[in-house]
Amino acid sequence: MSYSKRRIGIMGGTFDPIHNGHLLAAEEARAAFELSEVIFIPTGRPPHKSGKKITCAEDRCLMAELATVDCPYFKVSRIEINREGSSYTIDTLREVTADPEYTGVQFYFITGLDAILGIMTWKNAHEVTKLCKLVAVSRYGYTHERMNELPDDIRDKIIPLEIPLLAISSTELRDRIKRGRSIKFMVPSSIEQFIIKKQLYKD
Ligand code: ATP
Ligand code: MG
Repeated sequence: MSYSKRRIGIMGGTFDPIHNGHLLAAEEARAAFELSEVIFIPTGRPPHKSGKKITCAEDRCLMAELATVDCPYFKVSRIEINREGSSYTIDTLREVTADPEYTGVQFYFITGLDAILGIMTWKNAHEVTKLCKLVAVSRYGYTHERMNELPDDIRDKIIPLEIPLLAISSTELRDRIKRGRSIKFMVPSSIEQFIIKKQLYKD
């Protein structure tokens, strides 16, 4: 593959907590599309998780910083955390693509298959597909054939990417912590230490 534009990945998520599945997805997309960097953007207030208890934005952001500190090409942005109200992907993409720092950049929005299957519920889904390329990485329990459930014009904009399956989710991690089970090797050790120190997800 040869590219002319500078390419940057965006990995959005609640990251409550960030785990090795997120990091592997970002790394596999970085390598596959020769991205110069991947920006992790923790959501401020996720619209699809309203009503659910989530960890404060500062702690989720700090965990994203800790988990990515070893990788010079992984960055963390506070763009959604600093914005008032619900975090919509379209607002983030509009803001990022209008930033003079990113003039001429081709953005790759990286999601798991589970997340992309809900794209029709996203605000301004069609405009999202115009502002970036969408990458759908493998997620345990989902197959890429399920992209056929999406309208043709949307599906055609999504690039499937097979990655090694890590059957890890933040929900599973929170549940494990509550039950006193180990999360070692599912998250970077810095995240494990942070969770213990801050006593997160205990109740
Ligand atoms: P939760 O269980 O709370 O929904 P999660 O593990 O799904 O947490 P999110 O913050 O919701 O994490 O996900 C952010 C993005 O990362 C989504 O696009 C999601 O599909 C993707 N993702 C999460 N876990 C994995 C994984 N193990 N492998 C690949 N992609 C993943
Ligand atoms: Mg999720």
